[in-house]
Amino acid sequence: MGARRGHEVLERFRAHPAQVWHRGVRVQDVTSEPGLANGVRSLAGLYDFQWQQANVTLETDPLTDQKVARSFSIPRTPTELERVGAAMLRSSEYSMGMMGREPSYLNRAMSAYAGAAEFFRDGDRAYGDNVTQYHRYLRANDLSLTHTLLNPRPNRLAGPARQADPLLAAHVHEERDDGLVIRGARMLATLPLSDELMVFPARLPDGPEESARYAFAFAIPTATPGLKFICRDSVDYGFNGFDHPLGSRFEEMDAVVIFDDVLVPWERVFCYRDVNICNAAAVRTGALAQMAYQVVCKNIAKTEFLLGLASMMVDGSGLESFQHIHEKIAEVWVNLTTLKAFKRASESDAQANEYGVFTPAWDPLDASRNLYPRLYPRMVEIIQQIGASGLVAMPTQADLDGALGDEIRYYYQSARLEASERIPLYRLAWDAAVSAFGSRQVLYERFFFGDPVQMASAVFKDKDRSGSIEKVRRLLQESHRFGH
Ligand SMILES: Cc1cc2nc3c(=O)[nH]c(=O)nc-3n(C[C@H](O)[C@H](O)[C@H](O)COP(=O)(O)OP(=O)(O)OC[C@H]3O[C@@H](n4cnc5c(N)ncnc54)[C@H](O)[C@@H]3O)c2cc1C
Repeated sequence: MGARRGHEVLERFRAHPAQVWHRGVRVQDVTSEPGLANGVRSLAGLYDFQWQQANVTLETDPLTDQKVARSFSIPRTPTELERVGAAMLRSSEYSMGMMGREPSYLNRAMSAYAGAAEFFRDGDRAYGDNVTQYHRYLRANDLSLTHTLLNPRPNRLAGPARQADPLLAAHVHEERDDGLVIRGARMLATLPLSDELMVFPARLPDGPEESARYAFAFAIPTATPGLKFICRDSVDYGFNGFDHPLGSRFEEMDAVVIFDDVLVPWERVFCYRDVNICNAAAVRTGALAQMAYQVVCKNIAKTEFLLGLASMMVDGSGLESFQHIHEKIAEVWVNLTTLKAFKRASESDAQANEYGVFTPAWDPLDASRNLYPRLYPRMVEIIQQIGASGLVAMPTQADLDGALGDEIRYYYQSARLEASERIPLYRLAWDAAVSAFGSRQVLYERFFFGDPVQMASAVFKDKDRSGSIEKVRRLLQESHRFGH
């Protein structure tokens, strides 16, 4: 089959309905459900977009000679890696980075797993082959993935085994000849409106024996019996595109995942019981770096959008003579240039990992993922500071078309924009910086890659700072001698 087009995405959702719950009811058809359908339509649009941009986003699969998404590539050379980056950047531009969980993010994880299939081999279990076969299946059918890696943790200081109720977290309830039966919950899967669910190994801080029944990675269709997705309330209010330019298109949704005795066939299991493999998988396979590479591409697209938006607001409202405005625009530009530099550095220092897969350098990507949770909320704040009351003095399309239309067109003009130009621009700014959609984007950027506090602690503990310390030590010694 190869790379899909939008109508095929919609047809598959209708043919394989997952158990998605929204606002208290089980959704019959996500392609028509208010609050969800527009996001699904945009996801489908992304698959059409990949054909419009085929020279960048698609490549020929050497095994089947079909056109497939480049985000499934297992790069063996620097050029192949950079082509993946170019494809992901282009694809992120489709939603201006607002669909953080567009499929290329997890395609990179699964491609890294497949490139390192050897890592998953475990005695006579064919886990490595499962990974290889699954990656081929995904690529050949161009399926979308959602994923979950967090266990419910009422007690944040313990793993799943040492919670007051150790049955809360998804665990192996039964081992059968035909697979594992999973019971319990996993927290938060963004883009639950996907074809497949990938269950990543969760971090397992408790002892290896007690953690064994939580130690697994697998992938199953979202329409598997017993699998339930409980969505948060949609931030697509049902407004039109004029009133809600982002939320009416790019609501990707987040859901808690319940496993109600879900059978996972053995051929879909990638690892099981080995806590060391689970804890090491993301780093050793290169999946974390490949995903972070997609994230920096997405962040470039998102920051470019904010730079354009802020610049148009400044120009439209004639704010260019104020020095603090210069500072704010400069700040966003510096952020954009920094992200581009991170991307470039990760490419130029990329190396083949132990499985021969070209993997972007981790440190620039790690710096980027530690920084962006602070940059993004700040840039949204800048949009608020530039927009001020313009972000709430904002009539709807119905107001413009209604009895007061002429007055609105008269009173809502700005320094350089007619009301008909100013209102949509400021509605866009409101949606980026004030609406529920905009707030959820801020929350997403703060947390989706992990708790920023614990990520910073990992930097503190793991990064080699000895070279810097040595330089200071030398200076102190020199200063001491200089003084005598
Ligand atoms: C919009 C959104 C989308 C997401 N999408 C996905 C997804 O698709 N798949 C997925 O698997 N996950 C997803 N996540 C979850 C994400 O991985 C977590 O939010 C992140 O790991 C933080 O965990 P938590 O939300 O449970 O925070 P909590 O653990 O509840 O943290 C709450 C507060 O307590 C502090 N805290 C907690 N524990 C510690 C500690 N040990 N040391 C210091 N401080 C601590 C935190 O710093 C924070 O301030 C998403 C999150 C969001 C917000």
